Amino acid sequence: MSWASKLVRPYRVEDGEKFRIKDFDPGDTGHIHSKPHAHKLLEQGIASMAELQDKLYAQDRWGVLLIFQAMDAAGKDGAIKHVMSGVNPQGCQVYSFKVPSSEELDHDFLWRTSVRLPERGRIGIFNRSYYEEVLVVRVHPEVLKGERIPPSLVTKDIWKERFEDIRAFERYLARNGIVIRKFFLNLSKKEQKRRFLARLDDPQKNWKFSAADIHERASWNAYMEAYQDMIVHTATETAPWYVVPSDNKWFTRVIVAAAIVDTLESLRLGYPEVNAQKRKELKAARKLL
Ligand code: AMP
Ligand code: MG
Repeated sequence: MSWASKLVRPYRVEDGEKFRIKDFDPGDTGHIHSKPHAHKLLEQGIASMAELQDKLYAQDRWGVLLIFQAMDAAGKDGAIKHVMSGVNPQGCQVYSFKVPSSEELDHDFLWRTSVRLPERGRIGIFNRSYYEEVLVVRVHPEVLKGERIPPSLVTKDIWKERFEDIRAFERYLARNGIVIRKFFLNLSKKEQKRRFLARLDDPQKNWKFSAADIHERASWNAYMEAYQDMIVHTATETAPWYVVPSDNKWFTRVIVAAAIVDTLESLRLGYPEVNAQKRKELKAARKLL
């Protein structure tokens, strides 16, 4: 087993049934007890990722979809920025999903993300995703009301139905060669407060502060229940969740990098083989030069 595989194993949930959020400590740092050690591993991870991504792109068969979900200030943006810093931008696509537009609300809930799915050979990153449909939409019933679904279809089973649809959608993607990995950045309420205060205190962080975030914080417990239920119902072998301890940014980033490396390694990527026909072409080309 590779170092990446070993490192991420405790945080990988592929059978949601017994998942309980309280069993996962946001402050956990595994066997890594110093920042320098984490930085070294992160560098190693980024270097492997760059190599593997080059092969993914050349091979042009698999697509990789990485989904990030978290409470505010958990470090999604920073993790995406740092972990992907070494990959070729041509092989990578990042989309952030905000409050749906009226055009988006005119469609089914998977529509806007479907059109942003990564192509073969690419790594696609969703900064938030269709999972908001069982998180913010569940925590705030008025958001669901705004979705204009025919009332006869909105019953007490709606969340169960959405989980079922998401599982089916992800299974369909997996069967088409789109590999899905999902990250829940698991932040403690206490650390969120500390980070919000830093956003208020530090002029360079002021821009990150949004009053709406404080409002969401008031629904912390409802969110935790929604996250737990989401993982219980959507963690599968083909589309597992990583519950990433996020009170220490340096640890979050190492785990995310290692999970991506582990995923790419599992695809047994290689450069496309050169067949006899191609070899002939190359030989002819040499002559023409
Ligand atoms: P941010 O990512 O911090 O810029 O915030 C984006 C906001 O959009 C968050 O408050 C999300 O909860 C919200 N959002 C994203 N997707 C949806 C959705 N499908 N329905 C309602 N709100 C959403
Ligand atoms: Mg925000």
